[in-house]
Amino acid sequence: MDLHTSMTVSKELENKKFASIAMKGARSVRYSGFRVIKEALTGHKGWRPVWRDPDPQPNYDIVIIGGGGHGLATAYYLAKEFGQKRIAVLEKGWIGGGNVGRNTTIIRSNYLLDGNGPFYEFSLKLWEGLEQDFNYNAMVSQRGIINLIHSDAQRDAFIRRGNAMILNGADAELLDEGQVRAEYPFLNFKDSRFPIKGGLAQRRGGTVRHDAVAWGYARGADGLGVDIIQNCEVTGFRIENGTCLGVETSRGFIGAAKVAACVAGSSGRLMAKADMRLPIESHVLQAFVSEGLKPVLPGVITFGAGHFYVSQSDKGGLVFGGDLDGYNSYAQRGNLPVVEDVCESGMALMPMIGRARVLRMWGGIMDMSMDGSPIIDRTHIAGLYFNGGWCYGGFKATPASGFCYAHLLAKDTPHPTATAFRFDRFEKGRMIDERGMGPQPNLH
Ligand SMILES: Cc1cc2nc3c(=O)[nH]c(=O)nc-3n(C[C@H](O)[C@H](O)[C@H](O)COP(=O)(O)OP(=O)(O)OC[C@H]3O[C@@H](n4cnc5c(N)ncnc54)[C@H](O)[C@@H]3O)c2cc1C
Repeated sequence: MDLHTSMTVSKELENKKFASIAMKGARSVRYSGFRVIKEALTGHKGWRPVWRDPDPQPNYDIVIIGGGGHGLATAYYLAKEFGQKRIAVLEKGWIGGGNVGRNTTIIRSNYLLDGNGPFYEFSLKLWEGLEQDFNYNAMVSQRGIINLIHSDAQRDAFIRRGNAMILNGADAELLDEGQVRAEYPFLNFKDSRFPIKGGLAQRRGGTVRHDAVAWGYARGADGLGVDIIQNCEVTGFRIENGTCLGVETSRGFIGAAKVAACVAGSSGRLMAKADMRLPIESHVLQAFVSEGLKPVLPGVITFGAGHFYVSQSDKGGLVFGGDLDGYNSYAQRGNLPVVEDVCESGMALMPMIGRARVLRMWGGIMDMSMDGSPIIDRTHIAGLYFNGGWCYGGFKATPASGFCYAHLLAKDTPHPTATAFRFDRFEKGRMIDERGMGPQPNLH
C-alpha cells in the first residue's frame, strides 16, 4: 500500500487489545452521567477530593520523582498493569504545574524513524482508550493534524515520512493544494516565499486537554493506592556502594528499592545530584493563546516553512507556538524576540491571525536531548532509573512513556517499543536523529 491510496488503518484489533488494558483497574468512585445528575440535584455535597494528600512513608518499593504527566502515568501503569505496590510520586510543586499543564496539547504519531515510530503509535493507541481507562474526561479530540508542504522537495520528504508511518502501523494521507484549501481556505496559499502545495495529514492526531491528563492519571493512580505527595522536593540521592537507597527531600529521607527520575526540564539539575551529566540541555519554549473566536480551525496545522503550529481550543482561543527561546534556561518564562518571531510566522501562514489579540502566553522548560529523541533507561547506579529528553514533543508521549517506564521498572527490561531509548546510543553512535539537528538542541 502506498501513500496515494487510502491510508486509514483498521483499529479494530488494536482496540480490543487496549480495551482489555482498560478494564483491569478498580476504583471506589466512578464518574457517570447518573452521578453528575444526582449531585446536581443534591447540592453537589457528595463529591470528594479527587486524590488524597498523604504524608510520606519512611520507605517505598518505588519512588517516582516528578508529578508531571510522565511520572503520574508511570505510577498508574505500575499499579494497574504491572501489579506493583507501595509506590510514591514526589512532586516539588503541585500536580499539573510543570510542562504537562503548559504545552500546546498536540498529539500525533507522525514520526519517520523506526526507533520512534512504533513508540509514538503505541502512545496514540493508548490515548484512544485513555478516558474510558481512567474514567476521566481528558477531552481527547482526534480532530486531525496537517503538516503543510511548501516545495517539491518537501513533498518528497513527507511522502517518505508518510510511508514510514504506514509501515509502523500509523495512518497518513497525502493532500494536494485543493484538498488543503477545502479545509483551510484562509491560509496564504500563494505566498511568494512559502506557497502551500499540499500537506501530510494524520487524521487520528489532534489535541487533549493537558492538565486533565495530569488529573486523570493522578486520580487513577491514587485510586490504586499510589501516594501522591505534593510540595516535596527531592534535594539529593542517598547512594552507597554504587546503589541508590532512596532520596533526600524537603520532607526528610525517603527510602526506596527503586528510584525513578522523571522531571522533564529539571533533568540536568536533578541528575547532577547523583553526579551524572546528561546529554540534555534545558531551553525555554513558549505557548500563546488568543482571545476567543468563533470556530475557524477544524484541526491542527503546522507550518512547513517556518516554525509555527496552531489549533483552536474548545473555548475558542487559538493555541499556538513556535521556536524555542534558543538559550539555556531553567526559567518558566520567555522573552519578547521569540514572541515576535512566532507571531511573524503566524502572519506568514495565516494573515488573518493579525486581527486577533494575544490573550496570554507562558513558558515551560524543555529537556532537549542531543538527537531530539528521549531516554528511558537504567542508570549506572543500581536502583536508579531515568526518563527524560522529551524535547518539545513529550506530551503526546505521556501514556506510552508511563507504560514503558513502568515496564522497565517492574521487569528491568525495556518495553518492545522503547528499546532504542538508551543512554548508550550516544556513546555507540546509534542516534535517533529524528529532526536531523544533531547536537544543536536550539535547532530541533
Ligand atoms: C510551551 C510548550 C508547548 C508544548 N507543546 C507540546 C505539544 O503540543 N505536544 C507535545 O507532545 N508536547 C509538547 N510540549 C512538551 C511536553 O509538554 C513535555 O515534553 C512533557 O510534558 C514533559 O513531561 P512531564 O509532563 O512529565 O513534565 P512536567 O509536567 O514538567 O513534570 C515534571 C515535574 O517534575 C517536578 N520536579 C522537578 N524537579 C523536581 C524535584 N527535584 N523534586 C520533585 N519534583 C520535581 C516538576 O515540578 C514537574 O511538575 C510542550 C511543552 C511546552 C513548554
